[in-house]
Order: sequence, then C-alpha cells, then structure tokens
Amino acid sequence: MVSSDQFKAHYEGVLTRIATACARVGRDPASVRVLPVTKTNPVEAALMAYGLGLRAVGENRVQEAAGKRPMAPSDLRWELIGHLQSNKAKHALQVFDVIQTVDSPDLAVRLGRLAGEMGLRPQVLLQVNSGDDPAKFGCDLADAPRLLEAALAQSALVVRGLMAVAPLSEDPADADRTFVELRLCRDSLAARFGVVLPELSMGMSGDLESAVAAGSTCVRLGSTLFGRRPSV
Ligand SMILES: *Cc1c(COP(=O)(O)O)cnc(C)c1O
Repeated sequence: MVSSDQFKAHYEGVLTRIATACARVGRDPASVRVLPVTKTNPVEAALMAYGLGLRAVGENRVQEAAGKRPMAPSDLRWELIGHLQSNKAKHALQVFDVIQTVDSPDLAVRLGRLAGEMGLRPQVLLQVNSGDDPAKFGCDLADAPRLLEAALAQSALVVRGLMAVAPLSEDPADADRTFVELRLCRDSLAARFGVVLPELSMGMSGDLESAVAAGSTCVRLGSTLFGRRPSV
C-alpha cells in the first residue's frame, strides 16, 4: 500500500483532475465528492483517508468491511459499492451507512423491511446497468422505474440517486455512453416520480473525467489513490 505522503499526493492529483474536468463543463468541483475505495487494502487505507478529512469510504464486501469498521473512527461512513446478496442484507445494514448497490425490487423490499425492524433509515442508491454490460450487476435501464417504485415504497429507505459501473472496454466511448445514459435515466425518473435524486455515483480511477462531464456527484476511486490492488 502507499505511504501517507504518497496518498496525499495522489489525493491532490485527483482533486486537480476533478477541477479540470469540472472547468471544462462549467461545474463546481465542490459538487463532486471523492469516495476512496479501500477494498483489499488494510484498514490503514481508510485511516489515511480520514486523516485528510474524508469522512466516507467504499467497500465491496460486507465481511471485509465488518472486519475493518471497528478499527476506524465512528464518524467514518461506510458505503457498500459491491453486489449485495439478499441473504447478507441484514449484515450489510449493520455494517454500512449507505448501500449503493440496490439492484432489484426484491432487494429493496427486503432492505426496507429489515431496516424498519432494526430502527435504521439508511441511504441507498439504485444500481443501474446503464452500460448494458452482461458482466455487470445492476437492473436494466428499462426496469429502473419498477426498481425506484419499490424502493420509494419503503419508508425506511432514503433513496438518494443512482449508481453505475462502466463496462470493461478499451473504447472510452463506452464509458461516456454509460454515464450519459445514467444521467438521462435519473432525469426521467425524477420527472416521472416527482422526486429529487441528487446523487449520481459514477466514475472510477480510469474514467472519472468522463463521469464528471456527464454529471457525476460521487467518483469511487481505488487504485489512483492507494496504488494497484494486491490481487485476491
Ligand atoms: C473497485 C471499485 C472501484 C474503484 O476502482 P478503481 O479503478 O481502483 O478506482 C469503484 N467502483 C466499484 C464498484 C468497484 O468495485
């Protein structure tokens, strides 16, 4: 893993990239938050982020985050960015403040019921496979209205917006299209349901400029901050 000096330099580099991407499209850089993705790195990665004033980290596995969270300050928020199996929904609610990967009406209903029983009111994002990639999780674009309807019916869930992952591809146009489709999907859902869906979680180390141009409010950054992940 990187030293804290390296991490600081990487973080400053990321802020510069975001500022440049925002300037190109006339956005305020403060409208884009950096979510450091600490998966596969030790808890020290989360502590370094905390040390620079960041107050949320992303993890893709419930078990891994459960092991790290007790070692981190209690005001650090943990956000689930990996696929959630319904049998882990309860554990996920115990470990995470935000679940970015609600991808089916069944999962929304289950999370809503469990959160109600547990006296929680978690923020959630709906994961949409706006890149139409068979290898990616997320509901199909066409099913997004049904998913939103199910999530909005759960009074224990606070639906904040949408999340997408771009297809693995050599062609940057695939990421561009994925992100623009997610924003269009958000705009049409917001109009149709009369709700505000302010959060668009999209963009990673390799494609954050494209995501910011399309309206991302949350870039999920792992390798560009912490170095290449150890293979698992
Ligand atoms: C791992 C991961 C990231 C971070 O990826 P990098 O390319 O290392 O920045 C972002 N989002 C999701 C869903 C991930 O699983």
